[in-house]
Amino acid sequence: MSEARQLVIVGSGPAGLTAAVYAGRANLDPLVLEGVQGGGQLMLTTEVENYPGFPEGILGPDLMGRFREQALRFGAEIRSVDAERLDLSERPFGVWADGEEIRAEALIVSTGATARMLGLESEERLLGHGVSTCATCDGFFFRDRPIAVVGGGDSAVEEALFLTKFASRVTIVHRRDELRASKIMQERAFAEPRISFLWNTVVDDVRGDTTVEALVVRDVVTGEVSELEVEGMFVAIGHDPNTEIFRGQLDLDADGYVLTAPSSTATSVDGVFAAGDVQDHVYRQAITAAGTGCMAAIEAERWLGARRHEAATAV
Ligand code: NAP
Repeated sequence: MSEARQLVIVGSGPAGLTAAVYAGRANLDPLVLEGVQGGGQLMLTTEVENYPGFPEGILGPDLMGRFREQALRFGAEIRSVDAERLDLSERPFGVWADGEEIRAEALIVSTGATARMLGLESEERLLGHGVSTCATCDGFFFRDRPIAVVGGGDSAVEEALFLTKFASRVTIVHRRDELRASKIMQERAFAEPRISFLWNTVVDDVRGDTTVEALVVRDVVTGEVSELEVEGMFVAIGHDPNTEIFRGQLDLDADGYVLTAPSSTATSVDGVFAAGDVQDHVYRQAITAAGTGCMAAIEAERWLGARRHEAATAV
């Protein structure tokens, strides 16, 4: 036996839960599959100071708790399970989670993206306490402090340039002797006196118990190990969109992000909408994710309404 729903929302970051608030208020009785670890990337941050409406700032997990509470208030049902499999070739769409089969007339995909990490125990332990994956979010906390950015792509350079507004010194630590970033970004970084480079260098460890005190870095050419004294480490080695379960079913771009129509959240499958970081590799902010979550719910509501109208007039 399968369970029939008008709207299933897969993912519970700012995009999915905003979609749930709007869909709940539109009486769509949304079911949110929030995942075993719900809440998205903000669950890994500490202070959020740039979410409008919270002038004093708010902790990332507290903010997501409020999103969740608001979605529940308007009748969303939230299950702490992962969507394991989807079938978008049938209608209603098939969604399998925790051994249950759910049939959804419309679907909102908001599974987000995961920042790539170096894979160090110390990096994981200090995430949100000096280790960050978002300069726009956390740069402000490093006023007049020395920091490092790890990576050599456009993200790393962009983050480093942004961080010069706050930090006393920014060191880009890159594993090769040449940046991957576009020429124009490279030129900007080379022209910025507060940015220096550690070439052919990898980070082997982050020193510090509760805050970052230094990085243990290794020259991959000479093998020489040294310490870089910094109070923050921004990891900017790329993001991976969480789109494995949609592969082969939704059109994705070359990097695996879900493709949506211009100025819309419509995907390549009619009735499936995508919101948040799963379709946005440019802005990646909670507020922009929430904005596209709102768009997705409104578009899903209109799409469901049009289908009902068609069905009623066809009889
Ligand atoms: P990216 O282009 O894939 O660059 C990732 C960088 O991290 C590379 O320099 C890579 O080194 C390094 N890296 C990867 N894994 C590593 C590891 N385990 N340890 C150490 N270093 C590692 O990713 P991105 O910079 O996030 O950019 C993603 C896409 O968004 C790109 O197409 C980019 O152009 C675009 N983007 C554009 C802008 C802009 O135009 N303003 C801003 C941000 C992003 P190697 O070079 O050795 O591979």
